[in-house]
Amino acid sequence: MKRLFLLPLCILLALSLLAGCSSSPSGPAYRFEPGIYSGEGQGYGGTIIMEVEVNESRIIGILIESNRETAGISDPAFERIPRMIIETQSVAVDTVAGATLTSRGIINAVKTALLSAGATEKQLAAVGRRSGKKSAQIRLETEVVIIGGGGAGYSAALTALEAGSDVIVIDKLAMIGGNTRAAGSAVNAADPALQRLKQMSPSELARIEELLALSPRDEYMRRWQENIKTDIDAYKAQRATYLYDSPSLHKLQTYYGGDYVAKPELLEIFGDSALDSINWLTTLGAGWTDDISAAVGATWPRSHMPNFNFGPRGSNFVLPQEKKYTELGGKTCTEYKADKILMEGGRAVGVSGITANGTPFTIRTSKGVIIATGGFGANVQMRQKYNKHWATLDANVPTSNIATATGDGIVMGEAAGANLIGMEWIQLVTGSPKGGFTASIYNSIYVNKDGDRFIREDGRRDELSGAVLKQPNSFFWFVSDGHTIDDIMHGVDYKGNVIRDNVDNKELFIADTIEELAIKIGADPAKFRKAVADFNAAVGGAPDPLGRQLFEFRLDKPPFAAGYGFAQVHHTMGGLDINESCQVLNKSGNPIPGLYAAGEVTGGIHGGNRLGGNAIADILTFGRIAGKSAAEGK
Ligand code: ADP
Repeated sequence: MKRLFLLPLCILLALSLLAGCSSSPSGPAYRFEPGIYSGEGQGYGGTIIMEVEVNESRIIGILIESNRETAGISDPAFERIPRMIIETQSVAVDTVAGATLTSRGIINAVKTALLSAGATEKQLAAVGRRSGKKSAQIRLETEVVIIGGGGAGYSAALTALEAGSDVIVIDKLAMIGGNTRAAGSAVNAADPALQRLKQMSPSELARIEELLALSPRDEYMRRWQENIKTDIDAYKAQRATYLYDSPSLHKLQTYYGGDYVAKPELLEIFGDSALDSINWLTTLGAGWTDDISAAVGATWPRSHMPNFNFGPRGSNFVLPQEKKYTELGGKTCTEYKADKILMEGGRAVGVSGITANGTPFTIRTSKGVIIATGGFGANVQMRQKYNKHWATLDANVPTSNIATATGDGIVMGEAAGANLIGMEWIQLVTGSPKGGFTASIYNSIYVNKDGDRFIREDGRRDELSGAVLKQPNSFFWFVSDGHTIDDIMHGVDYKGNVIRDNVDNKELFIADTIEELAIKIGADPAKFRKAVADFNAAVGGAPDPLGRQLFEFRLDKPPFAAGYGFAQVHHTMGGLDINESCQVLNKSGNPIPGLYAAGEVTGGIHGGNRLGGNAIADILTFGRIAGKSAAEGK
């Protein structure tokens, strides 16, 4: 099966993997051909595509992708149905009230995938049985508990376990891996040994010099600039041409790229530890491609790409730690949803919550509680509460995050006295549902529902997203023509589907004239014609009415294509305030004893804008620090 995992363009995605404290469920006696299979079902908003992983006899993972369901309303279906299917090993599960059509779409897509994997119709009709018994109350004790089994959580868990502590990881889903598993696949670190093999262009050197010319905001920034300047002076004296990088440049670019909102003391650690974190993952079995590249929005070629030996997308950033942790006897309790940090005398002493079958639990800890529950990109209410910079982040704005990213740890942490920082910094990116229509921006325009152009298409990502949100129904059409259409029509989208097959599926339309295309997408032909005419005049040298500067060809070569696109919430930069030891700080800036946090649940690292490829370096680095600090009972 051909699979391409280049960009995380799906809107909702959940990858389920059975793990945890419960015993095995019973289900039909499947005989599968082990592998990953794809299936489609019709949901409320369109096609839902799911990928299902099976071994010889069991459904072991479910990946759900849907970008057309209504965020918020469909979330419970995405959260519950895959979990129930894995738990009962059966697709004869109940639909979720209020999201019936989405539920059916999910179930039908999994069915189709399972049929391809070798299941029979009879097996698919069989009802499964849930495992586990409901008991009055579960009480567990350990030294360190970690709330959230994503990349930060398992980095912390393995570190604490290897430091000699008893550890329990809990996760509210039946799956482990969190949003990390759905992440785009790159991790940034200055790695001069590899980067020396590449060349640096004069314009790249000029970019470094621009950063050196900035007036320093604080002593950290001054020091980073001085370190880089010393290196660059020597570089020039040697007449070197290799690609320069250093931890100081990584820190400076992250600080600058995040509009100086980050805490520089955290960036100091971040930049110094990123390569170590990659090497640590390598010792756990993660593999990498040979080349260093620049992830979208990374601002410098220092992105390390995994070779996917642990599976697609971000699996490589969480499964290596999880595997070692489990091999060493670390415990994971899935379907344990935490709702409260237990506090005694100002100290965090455990966590309480409820399991999926409704049993309340408490886990008491003697050393520490680590919050690693991820961001809040999928929590519409929280997005709306904290948003200051976007026209709206209501339920019409989709997210690239999985449905678990609901900010639970932020709410629990705040209730335990934590300070929150940078909550208003929410990152959006523009995307298209199938990811298949990615013509060069040089030769494309954005038009809205009516057919009007509304933004210079060569602008920053946040400018594009902001402008899209202000359009009717918050979407746009990405329009291109025959200069790139051949490529489009012969290409495959990021899932490996042939793009030609997506035409006229309500997301991608092709026509021989601009007028015909306008009619197909329901735009006003006169407005659409004017949008194209203005652009074409600008390609010819006239000033662009929207100030665009990058051009290649006129839009004048049939066929013409329009692809549906939208802005989506991608990352939440704010969260729990932590210090260099990952201790959670209270509103007076003092550590809350026994309480630690790492990963997207924290704030202060990415500032106002996260650079592409920095999130994974963050969760690995600070996850390990949180694990060490908790094990030491700091
Ligand atoms: P990070 O990238 O910071 O590691 P992820 O999103 O990858 O964050 O992982 C966070 C994990 O936390 C997810 O697996 C999610 O299911 C889990 N989680 C979120 N809220 C809770 C909660 N209330 N109780 C238990 N687990 C939770």
